[in-house]
Amino acid sequence: MTRHRKKSDLPQKTCATCGLPFTWRKKWAKVWDEVRYCSERCRREKSNKAVRRS
Ligand SMILES: [Zn+2]
Repeated sequence: MTRHRKKSDLPQKTCATCGLPFTWRKKWAKVWDEVRYCSERCRREKSNKAVRRS
């Protein structure tokens, strides 16, 4: 890895539900590849209403 070692250099993703960027969290360390939502709430909402604005 050639990443800088800064605190702010954590990986980021965009939430598939709300579209907001979110940052790596320790609780996701083992599942980061599968994480697609910023929160549990967004994770549930995707099954309720799959609203997609592109
Ligand atoms: Zn979200």
